[in-house]
Formats: sequence, C-alpha cells, structure tokens
Amino acid sequence: VAAAVPLTGDQRLVRTLNRAALLRLLRAEPGLSRADLAQRSGLTRSTVSLLAKDLLDAGWIAEDEALATGQQGRRPTPLRLSGSGLALMGAEISPDALRVVICSLHGELLESHQAALRTRRPDSVCHQLCQMVASTAQRAHAAGRTLLGIGVALPGAVAPRSGRLLFAPNFGWRDVDVGRRLREELQSLGLAELPVYCQNDADLAAVGEVQFGVQPAASPLVALTCGVGLGAGVVLGDTLFTGVSGAGGELGHTTLQHNGLRCSCGRHGCAEAYIGLGAVAREAGLPDVATLKRIAGTRNSAVRSAFGKAGTHLGVLLQNVWMTFDPASIVLSGEAVTLGGADFIDPALNVLAGYADAAGLQAPPVRVARYAEQAAAVGGAAYALHGLLHPYLDLEQDHP
Ligand SMILES: [Zn+2]
Repeated sequence: VAAAVPLTGDQRLVRTLNRAALLRLLRAEPGLSRADLAQRSGLTRSTVSLLAKDLLDAGWIAEDEALATGQQGRRPTPLRLSGSGLALMGAEISPDALRVVICSLHGELLESHQAALRTRRPDSVCHQLCQMVASTAQRAHAAGRTLLGIGVALPGAVAPRSGRLLFAPNFGWRDVDVGRRLREELQSLGLAELPVYCQNDADLAAVGEVQFGVQPAASPLVALTCGVGLGAGVVLGDTLFTGVSGAGGELGHTTLQHNGLRCSCGRHGCAEAYIGLGAVAREAGLPDVATLKRIAGTRNSAVRSAFGKAGTHLGVLLQNVWMTFDPASIVLSGEAVTLGGADFIDPALNVLAGYADAAGLQAPPVRVARYAEQAAAVGGAAYALHGLLHPYLDLEQDHP
C-alpha cells in the first residue's frame, strides 16, 4: 500500500497514490470503515477521512448503513466501491472491425458499438477509432456518466515501456505509435483529459477476465483469443506476463507443424495458420472470413467440419499451454468461439482430455470468457481501471 510505493514528494502524486490505495483496499474487501482503511493503509485517520470525502463526492465510493456493533459510541460506516455516474471505456482494433464499449467499474457492459474498418492504413484506422470514441463519449456524457479512462486493444505485440505497437501481422504494421496518435487526435476532439492505455488485444482479454470475470480468477490464468488472429494473454498474480519486448505469450505464433501452412507473420506452421478464422474459411472452401461469418450461423456442414478441424488443432495448443504454464485455468474468447461454438470447442476439449488420460493427469479447467466476443474491448476497460488503481505502474505509456 501507500508506504511501499515510490513517492516523489509531489503532493498531487501522493494524493493520487493514496486515493488509489484506498480504492484497492475497498475493491478487495467491500465494507471496510474509515478506521479499517487507516489501519490497513498506514495513513492517518484524518487523511483517510479527507480522501474518503473526495472519493464519495466523485462517485468512486458509497457509504452503506452503519452496522450495530453492540458498543457505545459512533458506529463505523461501511464503505464500498460504487462508481455511480462513472464509467470506463474500452476499444479494440481488430483486422476487420473496430469496437468501442462502455463498462461500469464492476465490469457490466453498458454500451457496445461496432463498425467495419474503412481501410487498414494506420492514420485512417486511428482516425476512425477516434471518431467512434468521441461520439460514444458524447452519449456517455449526455447520460450523466464521467469517463475515467480508455484502454485500447491492439492486434499485435506492444512494447512494454513505450506502448508502441511493434508488429501487427494481420495489418502489416510495424512500429506504429498508436497511443500517441490517439492521444493527439482525442485532444483535438475535446478529450484531452481522458487517460489512454494501450495493450495487446489478447493480453487485455486476459486482464478483463481477471478483473471482470464471473468466477474469481486464480493465477496463473491463460486467456486464448481466437479470431482472425490467435493471441494469448498470461496473467501471473496481478501482473501481465509480456516478456522483454512485449511478444511474451504470443502463443498463436508458436509452431504446431514444422514447414507447415504459411502464417500471417511470415513463418510457416504457426498455430494461427491452423486455428484462426482464415484457416477455417479456407478449410471450408470459402473465399474469405467475411463469407464465413455470414454463413456460420446456418450450420453449413463444410463450415462445421472446418471448425471441428480447427478445434482439434486448438486442443493440441491447449495441451502445450497446459504443459508450459500449468495454469489454474484457461479461458477462451474471440469470434471463433462464438461462431464455431461446440463444433469448435468440443474437439479441442476432447483432444486435451486425451493427452490428460494418456499421462494419467488432470487437465486444467477450460472455460469460455464472460464476454467471449467483446473480451478484448471489455478488457480495455478493465485495463484502464487497473491503471487508475495502480498509478505507480505507469501503464498510461506516454514516453518518447
Ligand atoms: Zn505466425
């Protein structure tokens, strides 16, 4: 808590850190009183009272009815995270669509918008996203909601310090500073105060499941996002495992077959080349993913069998994930999960169970994420919350 984080002596920073410390305590344990918070944070009672008043006024927390303690004197008032009138924004840049969502502080999806990409040029994509963000922000504002921050899911490896998008195979982008472009344009749209957090899409899907999932997320958690691209996020404790350069956990580009099918990244035999929606479309004899999406709901037998084949490959990847991370759970999300459903997932689980049986071991539980198709965008909202509650992590990368 407060005493353990670096302080610079800047009063505003100290206040930000202390506020965040109290919010983290209340998020972990709703119902703490001001006296409890003082005791656990190491802050004085008067500091806690001042910060609590700020947080009450801003809508971050609320007071509940005081509980009878059976003792004389004033009863302690329980506090909890509320977020009344506050909201988080999440966005996703995916190979064929842009998504923008609004979530509550508790992860309820309040609004969701999607638009087809007009082009795949970085400036045009960033501009289109900023327009969507601005119109969504306007509606949120009209509904009386204050936006606290936005987390943006990017389709490739993101550099840990600078937040630059290093390589997005499905876009052909290399070293694009998406965060800076978004901040600059949002500033001109009157959203200069909105903190922008950028991270890899699959990493954000993992963060979203940890922060907003239905079940408590035990660590380590591995989230696989299966769409056109195949990504993964690995969460250890409350930290994302991103590796030295941001490519850590890019399981879609681990190799399933030496000299196998060509992948979007330039290699051959990557998991994505067998499991991604492009592979499913090709296997089903369809011209492209858009056609696949259009007919996936019709229970076309070629499509079902193509999803089954992709699911079998997914099972091999699940086995590799199990043996690499020994995770407490594996979570699946992305459009392939919603489009393919049981045709895609059941073969994967069968293959994993087969490996487990052969070794006489129990495979980790595999489940579908709370927001399967919107996992990355909702994860963006969760990541913004994570950044706001952990200001010392400096997640809002804005470094030159
Ligand atoms: Zn690849």
